[in-house]
Amino acid sequence: MTTSHYIAGRWVEGQGSDCISISDPALGLPFAELKAASVAQVDQAVAAARDALPTWKKVSASTRAAFLRGFAEQLGQRREALITLQMRNNGKPRHEAEIDLDDAVATFAYYAELAEQLPSRNRDVPLAAAGFTARTRLEPVGVVGLIVPWNFPLVTSAWKLAPALAAGCTVVLKPSEVTPLIEQTYGQIADTLGLPAGVLNIVNGKAETGAALSSHNGLDKLSFTGSNSVGSQVMRSASAQCRPVTLELGGKSAIVVFDDCDPDQAVEWIVAGITWNAGQMCSATSRLLVQDGIADVLLPRLQAALKKLRVGNPLTEQVDMGPLTSQAQWLKVASYFATAREEGLQCLAGGQALEREGWFVSPTLYADVPKDSRLWTEEIFGPVLCARRFATEAQAIAEANDSRFGLVATVCSADLERAERVADALEVGHVWINSVQAVFVETSWGGTKGSGIGRELGPWGLSAYQSVKHVTQCLG
Ligand code: NAD
Repeated sequence: MTTSHYIAGRWVEGQGSDCISISDPALGLPFAELKAASVAQVDQAVAAARDALPTWKKVSASTRAAFLRGFAEQLGQRREALITLQMRNNGKPRHEAEIDLDDAVATFAYYAELAEQLPSRNRDVPLAAAGFTARTRLEPVGVVGLIVPWNFPLVTSAWKLAPALAAGCTVVLKPSEVTPLIEQTYGQIADTLGLPAGVLNIVNGKAETGAALSSHNGLDKLSFTGSNSVGSQVMRSASAQCRPVTLELGGKSAIVVFDDCDPDQAVEWIVAGITWNAGQMCSATSRLLVQDGIADVLLPRLQAALKKLRVGNPLTEQVDMGPLTSQAQWLKVASYFATAREEGLQCLAGGQALEREGWFVSPTLYADVPKDSRLWTEEIFGPVLCARRFATEAQAIAEANDSRFGLVATVCSADLERAERVADALEVGHVWINSVQAVFVETSWGGTKGSGIGRELGPWGLSAYQSVKHVTQCLG
């Protein structure tokens, strides 16, 4: 794999100094490599997007919609290959890889619909003053840099690419160096569909390539998904040029279980919220708040459910949970196991790496974790659940909100009035009530507090790539 960068409608070899090694986490072994893009190639990609912008922004809404539908169809045609690649490079169980594929397809199909509606969204604005008319025009922001992480590569890129292209923006996408093969698909589809050269560019590389893109003065906007530490660097680059940013960052989300719940049903939601994608979800509900009246019933059942999960290689075994996606992530999670041992936390399940090849850890549960433990406050990004008990609704809300993050939360209660009340009080961007983490393209995605700035998905995801222009005319 040498021609790994898609610039101005052509596949080119990387000219950077970094070599990117792509691994199968279930074996802990590399299976492909590619050379990173050079800074000069990042320049070329931005220049290509800039050149393509005047034409692409004038393309009719129905043509843009047709291209987006084409992306959805072509993803569908590559279904099996993309599912297998996600299983191999991310370590996702098959059913999760399928959901990711379906999500990406639905995202392109949804923004095709919204692209088609764009002309009707330019409308007259009623004025109180006489003698004037005013109209809005929703224009594309321009050339956008898109930087994404490795945990949901197909999906996270779709959530940015589809609305950006629908809005009439041209883009330079930088996938994660951990999973760069998956997004190559978007370049291949652009080729197949005959998307005009330069509308979609893909440059691969590590931090240096990301930094070259995020600090590039040829961008009109940057949309970043990733860690808080890199997010703040990206925001600094953007602030130097007073350029808008969307930031989708980390989380340390709560799942609140009241004592009127069916404990078995609650266990199912809790397990899904911490073991999907081996817990490598920004939205992992990694802080369990369980009411006193149900804790002694629920915790042993949760312990048993976590111990029962089948952890293994998704390509060769029937599994509920795969490995962590990278060795770096495996080492990070292991460091939290060490901290838990040093802090003397009560471990009810897991708490260790698996003794086998590959980057596996056991689904883990710590009980009665102190509020000041690093395991309670920091994003671990692995299948590590920390539990605390609470007595009252007010206490649950206060503890759930006591975090620098504010991405999502789940509330489990048979009392729907109470669940709604708690949902209102939670300082997060998305709340699930009595549900697994179902994400629909029509709803928004994004956080409050340290979890980011802006929203993806739904009409908000499109607005993130639009600029409002008003035209006011004097009738006199
Ligand atoms: P990361 O911040 O290390 O990397 C994200 C991307 O930034 C990668 O493409 C990387 O190459 C690039 N990058 C690294 N250094 C850079 C720099 N100096 N300048 C510009 N770009 C740079 O994150 P990760 O480890 O890939 O992903 C995990 C993180 O992403 C977690 O914190 C998770 O919560 C977050 N995340 C958030 C959401 C959300 O929607 N809120 C979704 C998925 C993941």
